[in-house]
Amino acid sequence: MSDAVTLIPGDGIGPDITEATVRILEAAGVLLDWDRQLAGVAALEHARTPLPEETLESIRRNRVALKGPLTTPVGAGFRSINVALRREFNLFANIRPAQSLWKSGRYRDIDLVLIRENTEGLYVGVEHYIGVGGDPRAAAESVMIITRFGAERILRYAFEYAVQNGRRKVTLSHKANILKLTQGLFLDVGREIAREYEGRVAFEDRIIDATAMHLVLDPYQFDVLVMENMFGDILSDLMAGLIGGLGLAPGANIGTHAAIFEPVHGSAPDIAGKGVANPTAMTLAACLMLDHIGRTADAERIRTAVRETIMLGDPAILTRDLGGTADTHTFANAVIARLA
Ligand code: NAD
Repeated sequence: MSDAVTLIPGDGIGPDITEATVRILEAAGVLLDWDRQLAGVAALEHARTPLPEETLESIRRNRVALKGPLTTPVGAGFRSINVALRREFNLFANIRPAQSLWKSGRYRDIDLVLIRENTEGLYVGVEHYIGVGGDPRAAAESVMIITRFGAERILRYAFEYAVQNGRRKVTLSHKANILKLTQGLFLDVGREIAREYEGRVAFEDRIIDATAMHLVLDPYQFDVLVMENMFGDILSDLMAGLIGGLGLAPGANIGTHAAIFEPVHGSAPDIAGKGVANPTAMTLAACLMLDHIGRTADAERIRTAVRETIMLGDPAILTRDLGGTADTHTFANAVIARLA
């Protein structure tokens, strides 16, 4: 029996990269029972809500989803559906591997994993305006929430991930020098849990801004990095830059009862509808999903085909973000040719 997986193509470049990814998986002989659902802008048009109950029900049923990017309106409009999904399914761990695929990237042989806390921090969205005099928006305030429970859960996940994946070191990045209570709690919990893994996984902590600089200067000194929500959001894009760009970076959102796999990048409105997006991040997200459902051999075969296709360095089959001239389908066809 084939596994049932909720498939949310998303909007912007989402439908193009999703189609390319589905074709690549089919060509690899990976039979999945795709349960196609809508969310975000595409759902608003059809169901008048950005997050239809049908979509939620499908994820509840299948417990695994592959999702394209979803546009979030800036300022006014509906709140982030990505954040809503993470909250609805309690997807507390966001795993973002950054592995070199691209020989013209700034560095070779990068192999890093960022583990981001996905439910707390500043992204809980507790914010409000403060009116002063006649100005109702004289000030605005956001609240950063860190709980011992949330910190323990993500930090333990990071150490367990390191053990299970043969990783040598966990770096906890924080801003406890300034945010002494919230970031201080996260760091204290990290130090406690690190003691349980002494002798098995090395541990260090670093200030977040220094981590950013050291990642650019010498990324090889890192291995697994763990941090709260917003820091993880920012540094994972930086790490995608180290390996050649957002078009190459996949992510997994893991909870206890469900998991949603997606590219790190967004809907790329600047190239949407042009058919030129790089489908690699989406395809690699599908590989993380295959790992998750125990089909690691299939995942590895597809990853190898993607890696080999990119390493060829042929501008006629590389998408524009990698310096080539190919469109999404041409690139996907080249990957499919290597799977044959
Ligand atoms: P973006 O990631 O969409 O794009 C940033 C830059 O990277 C753009 O120049 C884009 O063309 C390029 N890029 C991204 N993916 C690419 C690909 N596969 N191939 C080639 N080039 C690619 O970031 P943004 O423009 O800040 O955000 C656009 C929208 O996406 C916003 O509404 C944002 O909220 C949303 N977003 C969604 C998610 C998600 O669904 N998980 C993540 C990030 C941003």
